[in-house]
Amino acid sequence: MPLFEFHCRACGSVFEEILTLAELDSARLACPRCGSKATERGLSTFATGGGGDGGCGGGSSGFS
Ligand SMILES: [Zn+2]
Repeated sequence: MPLFEFHCRACGSVFEEILTLAELDSARLACPRCGSKATERGLSTFATGGGGDGGCGGGSSGFS
């Protein structure tokens, strides 16, 4: 299952959700912190190119 990172434009919170592509298209996620739906999708963990300040440096287990 792909893990997507989201960024809330209302409060600046960054959160991750595991979503199917269908779920990703069907609805915009509400921020778990402030409830705003002004969220935007960031990089998925499959495509982390470095430079993110939220990365824990963990190894990605690429098998689902
Ligand atoms: Zn928020």
